[in-house]
Amino acid sequence: MFAEDSLAFTVNALDRMAPRRTDAGWLAQQMDLPQARHLGFIGERALLVLNPLGGLALYSLPPSLVREPVFLGSEGEEKPIFASLLPDDQDLAMFGEEVKAIDLRSLAMQSVLPPPMLGVLAQARTLLHWHSTHRFCSRCGAPSEMRDGGYRRHCPACAADHFPRTDPVSIMLVTMGDRCLLGRQARFAPGMYSALAGFIEPGETIEEAARREVFEEAGIRVGEVRYHSSQPWPFPANLMIGVLAEGLSETITIDRTELEDARWFTREEVRAMLAGRHPAGLIVPAPFAIANRLLRSFIGA
Ligand SMILES: [Zn+2]
Repeated sequence: MFAEDSLAFTVNALDRMAPRRTDAGWLAQQMDLPQARHLGFIGERALLVLNPLGGLALYSLPPSLVREPVFLGSEGEEKPIFASLLPDDQDLAMFGEEVKAIDLRSLAMQSVLPPPMLGVLAQARTLLHWHSTHRFCSRCGAPSEMRDGGYRRHCPACAADHFPRTDPVSIMLVTMGDRCLLGRQARFAPGMYSALAGFIEPGETIEEAARREVFEEAGIRVGEVRYHSSQPWPFPANLMIGVLAEGLSETITIDRTELEDARWFTREEVRAMLAGRHPAGLIVPAPFAIANRLLRSFIGA
């Protein structure tokens, strides 16, 4: 188990070597280094190897299974790490029984990997997902080709370049004096309440998106919005931007298409929820999610 208060996917110690990865010759040479590591994914599950002491480590694919690898970066001088997406029906048995395919959400929830390893897996997962869903040029429809170690796709037919996407989401803890606003979606675990969140739309600032979402979902007017922290969220390509927002009105009007419930919670209640001892059994997201960090900051923990 690693530090329980660590926010998943936020630590990544790789040098991404952006200036070098545009050089196809250099990349090919890195790929062939005997110490190069090639991570494998099946959908959103990463291949990991159980070591004899019980921990998990990154698994490196045999060269025959490496296909269209993306370059994640280097752990130091000439220690490159790549990642490949394997077919959905990949036979796991061929790797031996100590190799497991585990989804990133479970890995984050269970804190079974060192944080920098989880960050590398998030980077890989988001990039591989983008390639698997953007194989054709969105301008002319011709098949496009991977370039720059996976940080660009080029269309040979119309010369358009396409770049991996990251979708920004504003996640906001609205506070008013001693209380904060939390909501629950129908798909949440029973009793779970969290900070409201929504995608930032084209042409919108983080602050405007926060104000709009809170008003749409809960009918609360928001004043000042302050940035708190952020978290890559590889399901598949979000960047969660955590903010603290000042509530200006009190009466909640719930948008039932978005939320099942929304309520004001006192600091005392939030403390109880974070500690897992709320009298009504209400809970908040686990420490691997940014909502938990926003709530901790609200209670001064
Ligand atoms: Zn094209």
